[in-house]
Amino acid sequence: MAKLTVNDIDLKGKRVLTRVDYNVPMAEQDGAMVINDDTRIRATLPTLKLMIENGAKVILTAHLGRPKGKRVPSMSLRPVADKLAGLIGKPVAFCDQCVGQAAEDAAAKLEEGGLLLLENVRYHAEEEANDATFAQQLACDADVFVNDAFGAAHRAHASTAGVADVLNARAGQCVAGLLMERELQFLGDELKSPESPFVVILGGAKVSDKIKVIDRLLDKADTILIGGAMAYTFKLAKGLTVGKSLVERDKVTIARDALDKAAERNVQFLIPTDNIVAVPTEIDGKFAFGEHRTNDSENIPDDVEGVDIGPKSAARFCEVIAGAKTILWNGPMGIFEDARFAGGTFAVAKAVCEATANGAKSMIGGGDSVKALNKAGLGDQVTFMSTGGGASLEFLEGKELPGVAALTDK
Ligand code: AMP
Repeated sequence: MAKLTVNDIDLKGKRVLTRVDYNVPMAEQDGAMVINDDTRIRATLPTLKLMIENGAKVILTAHLGRPKGKRVPSMSLRPVADKLAGLIGKPVAFCDQCVGQAAEDAAAKLEEGGLLLLENVRYHAEEEANDATFAQQLACDADVFVNDAFGAAHRAHASTAGVADVLNARAGQCVAGLLMERELQFLGDELKSPESPFVVILGGAKVSDKIKVIDRLLDKADTILIGGAMAYTFKLAKGLTVGKSLVERDKVTIARDALDKAAERNVQFLIPTDNIVAVPTEIDGKFAFGEHRTNDSENIPDDVEGVDIGPKSAARFCEVIAGAKTILWNGPMGIFEDARFAGGTFAVAKAVCEATANGAKSMIGGGDSVKALNKAGLGDQVTFMSTGGGASLEFLEGKELPGVAALTDK
């Protein structure tokens, strides 16, 4: 990787400002906010442990939710400090400010190997505005900036890009944490010249979110498998009917262009030939799916909506996945949140894990595919699961992420 990492620098006694992704799901329980899923906190432990062992004074910054520049108590990072302390097995100081005297005093008290978590940076509108003065305050007396928040690296905010500018200006080092390093390795280096057959599986809601990824990967992939609602826009592009399925009619032309490009480049491009369909209806005034069945045809009848790939398509997709040496998967095959429509996604998840056990490298591009794998209890059976949703998509599109660009080159 072309960027310096925490492994490349001396951390002893240094004040290390560390941007992490602690944007964890929380819910109120008996008047207190409780963390529902601590995956993102756990994901930072290797970097934190390494820094602690090397005698760094670690100052953590993060955002939580969208408080839009205001102090919203339910979006405080305080519960995260407690959770982190439990996971890492040592105290984590918390400061209810992220800049100013209180934050500076808390940082000054840190001993070597100590941890301090600052309050939600998005309590200040200056964070998202990448305000230079705010970045200066955040960077304060830091000697080093570590960015381990891949999930926030596609935003040029004060805590991701601004502080790096401050450190760079004073000749301080800006380095990738271990989690960020892995993201850049697997979504970047490993996909530069992937071992063939390279199978790309894309699903989810919208073609528009992923068309740039498709376009870029058409240069490298041997096969592209399309599921989810995305597939119906491709069906329209092929002149098939889609019934009441979710489609983007204004994206039919770009879908057709992608199909043409795939044909020109000899890339196998598969969309489902059968689907699970359901009748969209209303129950108690709310949208719901009524009766569902397998529609064993490429065309979807007028009165139903496609909600998952069908069993024949799932079997065909799994067969292709079984022969892969490199796999990239982003997006579910259907509305997997509803157990009735999760079959296609879970079949693909299982096939990806089996191929991995047989020696393929599998990269899961974040977001809902990670959720689906975890839901199926298969999260530990793939080569790499990205912690970024939007960031992984932008990175896969080939964009330079501001949070990465700001790091010091090797
Ligand atoms: P994305 O964030 O683009 O990966 O989209 C994930 C969402 O796509 C999930 O919430 C799925 O429920 C949804 N999705 C997948 N397949 C379908 C479908 N056939 N119709 C509607 N939504 C779908």
